[in-house]
Amino acid sequence: MQVTTIGYWGAYPEVNEATSCYLVQENDTNILLDCGSGALAKLQNHISLEDLDAVFISHTHTDHMADIYSLEYAMLIQTQLGNRTRPLDIYIYAEDIASLSFEYPGIVSVHQLQLTDHIFVGDLHVTFSENKHEIPCCAMKVTNPQGSSLVYSADTGYCDAIIEFSQSADLLIIECSFYEAQYRKIKGHLNTTDVSTIITKSKARKVVITHLPHFGQIRKLAEEIEALSQKNVQTAHEHLTITI
Ligand SMILES: [Zn+2]
Ligand SMILES: [Zn+2]
Repeated sequence: MQVTTIGYWGAYPEVNEATSCYLVQENDTNILLDCGSGALAKLQNHISLEDLDAVFISHTHTDHMADIYSLEYAMLIQTQLGNRTRPLDIYIYAEDIASLSFEYPGIVSVHQLQLTDHIFVGDLHVTFSENKHEIPCCAMKVTNPQGSSLVYSADTGYCDAIIEFSQSADLLIIECSFYEAQYRKIKGHLNTTDVSTIITKSKARKVVITHLPHFGQIRKLAEEIEALSQKNVQTAHEHLTITI
């Protein structure tokens, strides 16, 4: 299974970059975890949009789904051009997906995610866990036929659920929105102290921090976590690809 970082900023993208979006690939299967602002332009460096099989949206904050409507238009045009013959499955964790602004039900199939769902897309199996956030938000686990697993935290405050859900994951992509000095000053997100505790307790084999802040020195996030946890972590950046 190959995991590529498409976007990794929190809130809004820095110049020529994107907010949360990860491409997960196994053989011919291509899925997206979140589809943030700027993601579509970046994604096309890696695959053609018509080759996408499914998109999973962790919650409806726009830094995680801003480009989903542009993707619907892309699917419409690629279908009209004859390059795509099936609807794109879009799975969204939200209270009410009927209030969302999709316009072409034959082009995209929008599904309301339940935490108990087990979604199979080609060779990949996706499961979910409730986060602690301002609105309903879920973490996602993607497992391949060999049993390798990726856990993507999406947005969450500190909670036992994310520790349990990411137990022994081969790769944990975890949000890190704040520095050590900002310990729990803002609810619904993690700082470096929280991340250190979670990765120590979860025993994830590889860790990538994401959903990065627009202030401070980004390299300090990993430095603080490594000092607190004695574990190596990578900081997300564009085109970072990890095979597990
Ligand atoms: Zn966010
Ligand atoms: Zn959020």
